[in-house]
Amino acid sequence: MKPTLPGLHHVTAITGHAQKNHDFYTDTLGLRLVKLTVNFDDPSSYHLYYGDAIGSPGTIMTFFASDNSYPGRIGAGQATVTTFAIPTGSLDYWRVHLQNSGFPVKQLEVWGKTRLEFEDPDGLRLALVEEGDGDTAIRGFAGVTLAQRDPAASHKLLTQTLGFRLEDSTPERKLYRTDQSWLELTTDAGPAGRMGAGTVHHIAWRTPDDNQQAAWLATLDALGHHTSPIMDRNYFHSIYFREPGGVLFEIATDPPGFTVDQPLEELGKKLVLPAWLEPSRDKIQRFLPKLQLPVTAK
Ligand code: ZN
Repeated sequence: MKPTLPGLHHVTAITGHAQKNHDFYTDTLGLRLVKLTVNFDDPSSYHLYYGDAIGSPGTIMTFFASDNSYPGRIGAGQATVTTFAIPTGSLDYWRVHLQNSGFPVKQLEVWGKTRLEFEDPDGLRLALVEEGDGDTAIRGFAGVTLAQRDPAASHKLLTQTLGFRLEDSTPERKLYRTDQSWLELTTDAGPAGRMGAGTVHHIAWRTPDDNQQAAWLATLDALGHHTSPIMDRNYFHSIYFREPGGVLFEIATDPPGFTVDQPLEELGKKLVLPAWLEPSRDKIQRFLPKLQLPVTAK
């Protein structure tokens, strides 16, 4: 059986301001903090997960948050813009809302559609595009833009291995689509990017279950990609590999999801640690940035 990759699962970026980051993604963008935990590979940083009410795959924007992160630089070899889908007819609402909230927007036409581009408090580039129905709330990810000087090798991986279709192209831009998300490759990236606050760390694609993930691992290994072993991320299981243009890709399973260690109504309300870090909770909390969550009525 050929495994599937229906669309984006999550996008993970870096912030140097946990509080500003939290306030922007919850108050300004209206996402829910669905998990407050630490970076399992570096517990001195928070790992903040924002998403829809239940943290559905395809809606999850996550951040490694450490107050001493150096600013990065967005450029070639990186995911440069993360675009969220907003309901058709809500673009004017969002333009006014973002500007009134102190986030200037730039309006551009790409592939025949209007995009609103803006930056989060760390300078991470975000965009909104109308796709689908609803009131005004962000629906999840629409797609991601990757900047690469030589996209030919990425093109091959996307179309021959990962199941993307090339939908449109210009000399500077190519548009690929999988069932639920798009991916754009641009060649006008400028200097190489540098990882740090305000840049994307990796892009995760969703796969339905552990069996399909194992099939992806076998497929990628057979093609000579240097793929990580399957990692238990508590809320999903993950494999990682670098696509030829330099962007770190992850393939993450849909299950078990964010209610595996907290009931739905409690998601994001307190720091959750995986079992192996629980004995070090006091020490970990001393090193984490200060973060004030809203006091919610019981
Ligand atoms: Zn990830």
